[in-house]
Amino acid sequence: MKTERIMGIPVDNLTYANIISDVSHYIENNRKMTIISVNPQIVLDANEYPDVISLLEESSHRIPDGIGIVFVSKLTGGSIKERVAGFDLMLKLLAYADNNENSIFLYGAKPDVLEDAKRQVGLKYSNIKIVGAIDGYTTLSDEEVVSIINQKKPDFLFVALGFPKQEQWLARNINRLDVKIFQDVGGSFDVLSGHVKRAPKIFIDLHLEWLYRSLSDPLRIGRIIQVPIFLFKSLRYNWRASDK
Ligand code: UDP
Repeated sequence: MKTERIMGIPVDNLTYANIISDVSHYIENNRKMTIISVNPQIVLDANEYPDVISLLEESSHRIPDGIGIVFVSKLTGGSIKERVAGFDLMLKLLAYADNNENSIFLYGAKPDVLEDAKRQVGLKYSNIKIVGAIDGYTTLSDEEVVSIINQKKPDFLFVALGFPKQEQWLARNINRLDVKIFQDVGGSFDVLSGHVKRAPKIFIDLHLEWLYRSLSDPLRIGRIIQVPIFLFKSLRYNWRASDK
């Protein structure tokens, strides 16, 4: 696995198959596997959050979760060939957990979304043991959430609090969590539960899922401008670095 840097932020050249084949190794050896999405937003804003940068530096799998990341890698001589979408990876991890009768814990999203996400997992992956779920608006403290998760010792923990909350929560708590596989999954429970529709296939195939999501949610419309800003800033960063 090769690590590249985009504006100084590490991102790994990984495929879905690489990640899934690593899972059993981490579970068998009781090691922590930390899967963190690297997308244009995180690259642009990470400097405001030193704790998020530390988490990224220490994570085992920093996935290229955005066509902008793949594009910049190509333009700057990197070798990342394809996007690893956080949502699709979560589905593959759930399928793995189902095949291996692993346990999972869900943390994040609104209470009704979380309930529906749990139900969908139960319906689609009947061998998974859902050992717990806590919504992302709980008044429990970090200590209490960690203690509840540690009583259950899940194989997989999916954290869906959105950027930067989920990364900051992981940065604060990962060392004391008795969990093997971690993934930060943003708004994935909203999609898994059926509360939010995924983009039509044509948008996904054209790598325009981000555009569809931005256009269909008034709160996300401002994100459209982030993509050209990201491309401009990261290419400028690279040109300046190569001039030195
Ligand atoms: N969320 C949460 N607690 C919070 C803020 C957000 O659980 O305090 C959840 C929110 O309900 C949604 C997810 O985090 O399910 C964030 O989704 P969004 O699509 O904004 O994140 P992205 O995928 O863009 O990181």
